[in-house]
Amino acid sequence: MTSQTSNSVDRRRCLQAGGIALAASTMGTPLLENAALPAQDRTSSGWIDAHSHIWTRDVKKFPLAKGQTVADLDPPSFTSEELIQTAIAENVQRVVLIQHHIYHGWDNTYLIHAAERYPGKFKVVGMVDDTEPNPAETMRRLQKRHVSAFRITAWIRGSDKWLDGPGMDAMWKCGADTNQAMCCLIDPRDLSAVDRMCQKHPDTPVVIDHFARIGVDGQIRQADVKQLCALARHQHVYVKVSAYYALGKKQPPYLDLVPMIQQVYEAYGPQRLMWASDSPYQLVDQHTYRASIHLIRDGIDFLSSADRDWLLRKTAEKVYFYKS
Ligand SMILES: [Zn+2]
Repeated sequence: MTSQTSNSVDRRRCLQAGGIALAASTMGTPLLENAALPAQDRTSSGWIDAHSHIWTRDVKKFPLAKGQTVADLDPPSFTSEELIQTAIAENVQRVVLIQHHIYHGWDNTYLIHAAERYPGKFKVVGMVDDTEPNPAETMRRLQKRHVSAFRITAWIRGSDKWLDGPGMDAMWKCGADTNQAMCCLIDPRDLSAVDRMCQKHPDTPVVIDHFARIGVDGQIRQADVKQLCALARHQHVYVKVSAYYALGKKQPPYLDLVPMIQQVYEAYGPQRLMWASDSPYQLVDQHTYRASIHLIRDGIDFLSSADRDWLLRKTAEKVYFYKS
């Protein structure tokens, strides 16, 4: 998520104390893998994290939006190299990078730079301003630069109008042609509007981030879970099983989320669910990368090993790492 939800002072203190700090010797190393397997094998056997953000303190090269400075970055640094280092410790070999609108607005440059610097490692979920002329043309242009999906959200223009307008319609239409998914950062109240767009654009791939943030206020309401599950009747809708640090009791090992995971599993099946960490927010205070992947990889009885393969790799591979 990109909301500034929790105590940022505590968060910063924790991170500066070393939560995600890296040894200076590893910083900036072009590729941080040293496994004995050939690169191709590592990729095909490793997991995929379907959602992480990155940012850099090099704001001269990658400026922040709206006059922000490095003092606004929280945590203070989470570069592509820091992400790779964090992920590889759990055999996560590929990551989907999600545009961070607060820090970078509509400018996807840093994410594209990371994808170009580490071939095969990243795909990008970018953002396009749908009120600008020809957003579909921009989508097609960005697809040639590793942008395989787009983040859309009710948070910028408000729940009542975020899906209105010809530009948004053009984006959904284009997504059906190019296979670029509309990735929705939304709250439960926005599910009905997404449902209407899915009816209008049945061939457009759609991903719902973080269970539509059900449980962000600590309460997992059955009415919301049912509404999320009802969206499964549109066959190109997927759900990210992610952001555990922010949902329900917000306590590892996050077992209070298992009933909701089971409900979406029964509605969507494993082939339309994907695990994601939502780093670096999942790396703060008592939360860790390992605790996040552990829940899906090792922690849920009703998942078979074939199911885990889908949640931890194959669904994200299909939705984001497709050949374009
Ligand atoms: Zn996020």
